[in-house]
Amino acid sequence: MSLVTKLVTLSFDNGPDAEVTPRVLDVLARRGIRSSFFAIGKQLGDVGAQKALARAQDEGHWVGNHSWNHEVPIGEDERADTVDREIVATEKLLADLGCPTRLFRPFGGGGKLGPHLLSTAARDYLAEHKYTCVTWNCVPRDWVDQDGWVPTALAMCAKEPEALVVIHDYVAGSMKHLDRFCGELLEAGHTIRQAFPESCLPMRAGVAQAGLDAITTL
Ligand SMILES: [Zn+2]
Repeated sequence: MSLVTKLVTLSFDNGPDAEVTPRVLDVLARRGIRSSFFAIGKQLGDVGAQKALARAQDEGHWVGNHSWNHEVPIGEDERADTVDREIVATEKLLADLGCPTRLFRPFGGGGKLGPHLLSTAARDYLAEHKYTCVTWNCVPRDWVDQDGWVPTALAMCAKEPEALVVIHDYVAGSMKHLDRFCGELLEAGHTIRQAFPESCLPMRAGVAQAGLDAITTL
């Protein structure tokens, strides 16, 4: 039987969490997997969460900015100070915590891709500050289906030559299954890597790539 050689990238959103993120890091360390953590600014008021994020960075994971409030997709947020409140404030906090980043992942509102992800003001800020914008192509909805997301994610990864999986390191119930998910990916012949698929990078170091207009409210 020939094994598939499909690439999978793991990313963890909406944390960090003082309890759950360290358990995720333990699994990844034991398996020698590196990934990315897209942090929410308001999650970082807690010292335990701050420590978890610093540990993630120390262990070779990439830290990204996933907005401050994560309540209204930026392309739908018509307030004048949205870029400052959501992107700049989180950027400053991450830098103050020793995890400076130029990775930004917009909030999709349940994993949906579309023009609601960015406003032109947000797009211009990200370009000016040389951000790499990271989307996704595999959202198994682990926060909803906490005990059933693994087979969903495996089926999605089987169809996608370069999967970028979004799961959530604040949901204790779903992260109980992370080790099994990693094991089943490897058994199925996937290679787990840290790099993002090109197709999920609509902006690279401030330069627009294919797909940027499709995620911007113009
Ligand atoms: Zn999110």
